[in-house]
Amino acid sequence: GAVDAECDVVVLGAGPGGYSAAFRAADLGLKVILIERYAALGGVCLNVGCIPSKALLHVASVMDDVKHFESLGVSFAAPTVDRAKLLAHKNKVVGKLTGGLTAMAKMRRVTVVRGFGSFIDSHVIEVDETSGTRWDTTGKKQKFKFRYCVIAAGSQSVSLPFVPKGDPRIVDSTSALELGTDPKRMLILGGGIIGLEMATVYSTLGARLDVVEMLEGLMPGADRDLVKVWEKMNAARFDNIMLKTRTVGAEATKEGIKVMFEGENAPQESQVYDLVLQAVGRSPNGKKIGAERAGVHVTDRGFIGVDTQMRTNVPHIFAIGDVVGQPMLAHKAVHEAHVAAEVIAGDIHGNKELSSAAFDPRVIPNVAYTDPEVAWVGLTEARAKVEGINIKKGHFPWSASGRAIANGRDEGFTKLIFDAETHRILGGGIVGTHAGDMLGEIVLAIEMGADEIDISKSIHPHPTLGESIGMAAEVAQGTCTDLP
Ligand code: FAD
Repeated sequence: GAVDAECDVVVLGAGPGGYSAAFRAADLGLKVILIERYAALGGVCLNVGCIPSKALLHVASVMDDVKHFESLGVSFAAPTVDRAKLLAHKNKVVGKLTGGLTAMAKMRRVTVVRGFGSFIDSHVIEVDETSGTRWDTTGKKQKFKFRYCVIAAGSQSVSLPFVPKGDPRIVDSTSALELGTDPKRMLILGGGIIGLEMATVYSTLGARLDVVEMLEGLMPGADRDLVKVWEKMNAARFDNIMLKTRTVGAEATKEGIKVMFEGENAPQESQVYDLVLQAVGRSPNGKKIGAERAGVHVTDRGFIGVDTQMRTNVPHIFAIGDVVGQPMLAHKAVHEAHVAAEVIAGDIHGNKELSSAAFDPRVIPNVAYTDPEVAWVGLTEARAKVEGINIKKGHFPWSASGRAIANGRDEGFTKLIFDAETHRILGGGIVGTHAGDMLGEIVLAIEMGADEIDISKSIHPHPTLGESIGMAAEVAQGTCTDLP
């Protein structure tokens, strides 16, 4: 049938994966159409994820920090929070970034099409136009023919089957970011990063917290010594941390949401909450785009399999970001996007160097932007034990860091994990204020194959928290003179 336009590349979804792929492809001289169902570009990360959560977490961390100031000789009055203004600030932050993306798309002559896209066949996608702030369809349909396609449809939060629908007292991260309620007692379902970040915000704003997690510990994946520091500093926010516990039922009552638990640390009686946040994971959007009509394989759970060049089983259709698998992180999506765009441009221009691009990172960093922050990358001690890898560790406590002490925040530590034979760095973890900002140095060291000496002999500025990375390498070498 007739098509409305033709292009080199169609990118489906305008999150960090999609807009990065579209922009890189346009920069490499390709004609690009970017399809997004929402009015704002930026996907989950900019609109309802990374960015708005950090806008709120920044405010929360300042509010928490000033509480410690009395002992330093400075007192502030108790804060008053104007939620409407706080929300307006958060929305302004988001608007600035998503508006920037629209401008950048225009500058690059990327055609942005607003609507819900689904494949007609392996070379045509149909877009059902959407309008309004959500995505009601207008009935107008357009067809686009593409030589290549990048699927960047992302993910959405999972809701437990037995949890009542449509009750404003049960939220996911998206609605939690709207700060619509002022709960006294809140349950966080799921002890991962997203749940604990939102928990931090709500607790600073006055909520008492319970958290329930099926696994043995909070922040699964991180080494326990890092998490322990976070737990100690945050214990006062929680009434009950229920580990190895399952939520088995939830019921909307007049008093609140009544929740039943089962497991080792489950309370005997059901508990009643003003607000329940579901943060039990995210599910990929792979099944909602008509992929089967293009011949693209999608797993039962909705993931799309790709090779290291981000190609699906259909050679001219690529996929990137949350829809291709874990870890579901924005920085992973962006790097995969650049690979896909380069491979496509390489194929089209006959440029071998571009078409040999591959996604082959040694490591992908993780950060919980809680207070303190917990950041880790590469090999963990727990993993090394399971895999029988012979490691050597350098652990530098911030109680020996001049800057951390001066900041009044010396509870953290920095640890580096080296291969015991080659002395090369394999992983690292930091817990403390600004841990996430420091982690990039460890990522670079791992990618460069740095060893203990490379890190310890690099002169770090004094006095900084980042200095602790050099110190940790010295500790591993046994040459650190700064420990008590
Ligand atoms: P998405 O961002 O999900 O974007 C997909 C886009 O595709 C969406 O805009 C969607 O509307 C659109 N779309 C899907 N299907 C269609 C269709 N058929 N037609 C048209 N459009 C379609 N990651 C970090 O790295 N750091 C963080 O601090 C962080 N914090 C987070 C906090 C929260 C509360 C949440 C929920 C997530 C957070 N993440 C964070 C994860 C991060 O947001 C995701 O990993 C990232 O957004 C994935 O990018 P993506 O491009 O794959 O998909």
